[in-house]
Amino acid sequence: MPELPDLEVIKDVLVRRLVGRRIAEVVVLRPLVVRVLDPDATPESFLVGRTVTEVARCAKFLRFALDDGGWMAINAMLAGRLRYTPAAQRARVRDYVRLRFDDGATLSYHDAKGMGKVYLTRDLDAVPAYRDTVPDALSSDLTAEAFVERLRPFRGEIKGILTRGEAVGGIGNAYGDEILFEAGIYPFRKRSTLSREEQLRLYDAMRAVLVWAIEVLRERVGDRIDVEVRDFLRVHNKAGHPCPRCGRPISEITVAKRATSFCRSCQPGSLIRN
Ligand SMILES: [Zn+2]
Repeated sequence: MPELPDLEVIKDVLVRRLVGRRIAEVVVLRPLVVRVLDPDATPESFLVGRTVTEVARCAKFLRFALDDGGWMAINAMLAGRLRYTPAAQRARVRDYVRLRFDDGATLSYHDAKGMGKVYLTRDLDAVPAYRDTVPDALSSDLTAEAFVERLRPFRGEIKGILTRGEAVGGIGNAYGDEILFEAGIYPFRKRSTLSREEQLRLYDAMRAVLVWAIEVLRERVGDRIDVEVRDFLRVHNKAGHPCPRCGRPISEITVAKRATSFCRSCQPGSLIRN
């Protein structure tokens, strides 16, 4: 699932490659994910001939502004991927939409689960869940104090709170593991048992990990925005590998099909469920 650092870097690539480019052709291969919110438009009439004037990230959405005031807003959900190539692309299974630009570059939307959405609209407020009231984990409005305040109503396991997107936006399973490792907090600790100092430490860890990951991904991703780079992470998916802090093996616990990786010695705690 694309998380905040992935989307941030994808956005950077698309700003560099697509802003100022005119859409020459649109091919809808599988209409399931495409939602045209303008009743008089088709994907072709909405997009072809338009120039992209801006690409931005808004929480989980990537938003493309068009020169006639229209918008394309993409929410990749669990398995959506954008693929950019400087030339034509051969269609792949599970490609849903393909845009060709005036310079021959191609952007396609691929989705193994078909759960994502590509909205075409003149009014972003009409896009479901676009105006999320949850602040982004890197939002400048989200101060340490505001973060502690956001956590307050949630009393359950801290990893679930970080990744469910109700307290802060943009963190999924991978970065949830990394942030808790950085903070030295056991992922299954109840939020209600975390001291104020621990919650402030968690905030610092969240900001530090996300900023660090964006820097690494900027170096690593290049134009290959369809490939999720996660191998540089320190604990996520690293079960059995030595902890980079203490050298003991990283543990993994799977609950409801979701694996959590952590270090038992750097993130002490015990699994108490009730
Ligand atoms: Zn350790």
